[in-house]
Amino acid sequence: MDKADGLSQARQNLSDYLRLNSLRNTPERNALLEVIYQADVPLQAEELAKLMTEGSASLRISRATVYNNLKLFEEAGLVRKIFQEDRVFFERTDKNRGVIRLICSGCGKTTEMNSDKVRRQIAVMRTRRFNATGWVLNIYGLCGKCSADQKRKQNRLNKKDKDKK
Ligand SMILES: [Zn+2]
Repeated sequence: MDKADGLSQARQNLSDYLRLNSLRNTPERNALLEVIYQADVPLQAEELAKLMTEGSASLRISRATVYNNLKLFEEAGLVRKIFQEDRVFFERTDKNRGVIRLICSGCGKTTEMNSDKVRRQIAVMRTRRFNATGWVLNIYGLCGKCSADQKRKQNRLNKKDKDKK
């Protein structure tokens, strides 16, 4: 499922959810949904608010409105929260869409990767008495920058040890 399909499906789900709950749709709501579904990585509420004022939507939207809408999207199953240390990120939840994330334990940087092999494996996996609608695979480690930093630190320590001897 590509990005555009994911967004139009999400728009449809949002309008269904709003109708069912007798809520009305607003340009802010739609714009926020669009920002979330076009992002490649999970974002924090502040980042989303910032993107909305900058993006093509260029809407003035208060942080409270962003939070309220994120809460509503979560209830509607359109976004999910990710907790990382003391920060909260939001990401889209396209149905049946899997996400493979590489998370740096050093700086917290998150990147998504694709693996058709993993996707296929999970697609054929059986979940007993459980109707799976999506998945997230987190792979922890160190990014290029952090592992270079670590190597440098290690070299410095080794050098100190040698100097002592
Ligand atoms: Zn890093």
